[in-house]
Amino acid sequence: MDSSTIDLSPDEFRRLGHVLIDLLADQLAGAREAPVRRPLPEAVRDRLLNAPLNDAPEAPDALLQRVKDDMLPYSLGNSSPRFFGWVNSPPAPLGILGDLLAAGQGSPAVNSDRAAYFVEMAVVGWIRAMFGLPETTGGILTSGGTAANVIGLAAMRHMMAQGNMRRLGMTAEPARMVLYTSTQAHSCLQKAAELLGFGDEHLRRIPVDSEYRMDVAALREAVGRDRANGLRPVCVAASAGTVNTGAVDPLDAIADLCADEAMWFHIDGAYGGFGILSPAAAPLFKGIERADSLAVDPHKWLYAPIEAGCALVRDGDLLRAVFGVSPAYLNHDSPYPWLSDLGIQQTRGFKALKIWLVLQQVGLQGFRDLISADIAHAKALQAKIKARPEFELVAAGPLSITCFRYKPVGMADDKVDALNKALQKGLDASGKAFVSSTEIDGRFVLRACIVNFRTTDADLDVLLDAAAEAGKAELKAKGDSREDTKA
Ligand SMILES: *Cc1c(COP(=O)(O)O)cnc(C)c1O
Repeated sequence: MDSSTIDLSPDEFRRLGHVLIDLLADQLAGAREAPVRRPLPEAVRDRLLNAPLNDAPEAPDALLQRVKDDMLPYSLGNSSPRFFGWVNSPPAPLGILGDLLAAGQGSPAVNSDRAAYFVEMAVVGWIRAMFGLPETTGGILTSGGTAANVIGLAAMRHMMAQGNMRRLGMTAEPARMVLYTSTQAHSCLQKAAELLGFGDEHLRRIPVDSEYRMDVAALREAVGRDRANGLRPVCVAASAGTVNTGAVDPLDAIADLCADEAMWFHIDGAYGGFGILSPAAAPLFKGIERADSLAVDPHKWLYAPIEAGCALVRDGDLLRAVFGVSPAYLNHDSPYPWLSDLGIQQTRGFKALKIWLVLQQVGLQGFRDLISADIAHAKALQAKIKARPEFELVAAGPLSITCFRYKPVGMADDKVDALNKALQKGLDASGKAFVSSTEIDGRFVLRACIVNFRTTDADLDVLLDAAAEAGKAELKAKGDSREDTKA
């Protein structure tokens, strides 16, 4: 076998590249009209799962054909204007090209004398400035919000430890450290607490108020109780946009408490952080500029193709103190630390390029408008839900998340959960719209999160019409012929 099997001539590379771009362009062209999602047929699933790896080479054209047939039709669906599940935005098309470019130029974003390094530093600086954090802030791009939260909390652990965390780890801690978050916090904070050795038992879930924001009085009480019991409260991990409802914790009050108690102020802004760009929503984020560490997710509201998160740490030297290592084989005499000294990964992709492209393509004002439009669409959806008697608005967050359910007039509460579970499946199968689900105050709810520059007002009507249709179909299948729109 010679290298001609793996290498492509420039002409062949160009030809295959065109085939591939055409595939993606066709997908873009169909984003509005195609079904939001298609069910993955068992035969396709089995073909993907059991694909043999042969001794003999295969032709790239045949492989691309398999991608076209068996993969592209069964993506998550988030390129559609009527995809409202979880927090999965459509990738900005220029960002898609950015990822291709990043792979194509082949340079890891590590070495501090290469262009990719300075592009990442610039992008991190732009993001830092959006939150009003000082210039001393350090940061790094990550795989996503989970990794960004882990990095922020690792910096916290290093700073708050009484012993030498790098040398002795948790074994040198004279008192157990305790972290505080709300009952609405994202599960990645649990992962972080477990991974960093605090243990889930030392991550307190503070109750929330009627708007699903952390109850600061309850927080203060919990901190006092733990201190009285000989534990060491070290950190509040607040949410700037909870994943269930988009609630933003009272950041300024929590910052005050952290200052009073000499605790670290961490913020998980993975979903909602960039909501600060919306002038109407910006006041919710007052206090975010006081964070000791902040996790945000460009692959959510900045529309960067996955993966792209960002960790910011107010004391920029801390990242190097936590992660810096200097074995002989990585020796360099650059005045700048390598990016491997600021985070977990050694070799790492050039994630900054796609963000660099899209942020400048759209501009700051463009992003203010896009994010404001998503929030306005959520408000419009909430108004439409209120205007339709067959729906119940359960939680209307201040950002772009709406939790609701289909509840025919007179239906007993204990039947509503099951009905909505079936409705969600039916709606998904219809291909007309997609919502995910969650639990609010013990109730199963449909959850629509609008982080989608393609969504229009008409798409919201399609969602509600299709949801009502799926609900009716389910009632009918169960032999319930109730007239669901009777007020
Ligand atoms: C998405 C999300 C996370 C996790 O981020 P990933 O990018 O999925 O790793 C954490 N917190 C919140 C609030 C989120 O919305």
